[in-house]
Amino acid sequence: MSAQGDGGASGNDLPGPELNPQLGLTGFVSGTPASDLAPMAVREQELLDQAVELLAGLRLAVLTGAGLSTDSGIPDYRGPQSVPRNPMTYQQFVGDENLRRRYWARNHVGWGHLRRADPNAGHAAVALLEQRGLLSGLITQNVDRLHSSAWSVNVIDLHGTFDRVVCLQCASVFPRSRIAEILEDLNPGYLERASDAGDVAPDADADVDDTGDFVMAPCPVCGGMLKPDFVYFGENVPKSRVADAYAMVDAADALLVAGSSLTVMSGLRFVRHAAKAGKPVVIINRGPTRGDEFASLKVEVGVSEALTYLAARLPDLPHG
Ligand SMILES: [Zn+2]
Repeated sequence: MSAQGDGGASGNDLPGPELNPQLGLTGFVSGTPASDLAPMAVREQELLDQAVELLAGLRLAVLTGAGLSTDSGIPDYRGPQSVPRNPMTYQQFVGDENLRRRYWARNHVGWGHLRRADPNAGHAAVALLEQRGLLSGLITQNVDRLHSSAWSVNVIDLHGTFDRVVCLQCASVFPRSRIAEILEDLNPGYLERASDAGDVAPDADADVDDTGDFVMAPCPVCGGMLKPDFVYFGENVPKSRVADAYAMVDAADALLVAGSSLTVMSGLRFVRHAAKAGKPVVIINRGPTRGDEFASLKVEVGVSEALTYLAARLPDLPHG
């Protein structure tokens, strides 16, 4: 039963993609292959073995945040080593044309970067847990769509997704790629000039300075104001989406949080909800989180490493 007894598992004992042939992991995981994950300290393995013990036989709801995508090259602006950053609020976006122009210019550059990102071993591990029938579902705060790229199926994109654009006037929704073509036509050569952009934030906000002459795209249907279809600071998650996420937690026996500092209430409320219902809550995150006081177990281990470890060791559900 103990995953530890057989002579001190080193990092090399972690399951490689061969344990998950149906997902074809070797074909598309270019972030961090499971075989290249960092070796774990004994103390880290002990914590994860405690997590296995706590969660064994339980159906899980999983909540993920930016810390899961750092191994895919997408920086986490709330992680322990992060540079503080103030994302634009909804009110700024709709109320200030210059800020909006700057936002779209930076998003135009950052979008291409996010589109090229690949899921990593952590995303693959979550997909494997679902495939084995261990999950009631997955709630992610990330807009990068990497869970879906890793073939997770029952995913709630709590904060929306970077690859859709919505019109604030007529509510039409467009693929981001279509808007990109329009922006290309309106701003010939812009991407080439901005190609040496620095960091790109998890919301596709690239570090570009020269944005003053950028031409924004109007809604192709009504000419109204377009907005990337994700939830801004100062904006609420749609009620039906919140209800779906609560239902996912209610359908689970335990909640597993991975790679989120739970800074914003939109994620923290599910931790509170699960704890209040007496369900075990396991949090995997380096650094403190706002949910620590509700956690049955806090595991400060790299997210990809931890999820890979759990996916390999959690047993099948009794009738599942
Ligand atoms: Zn419109």
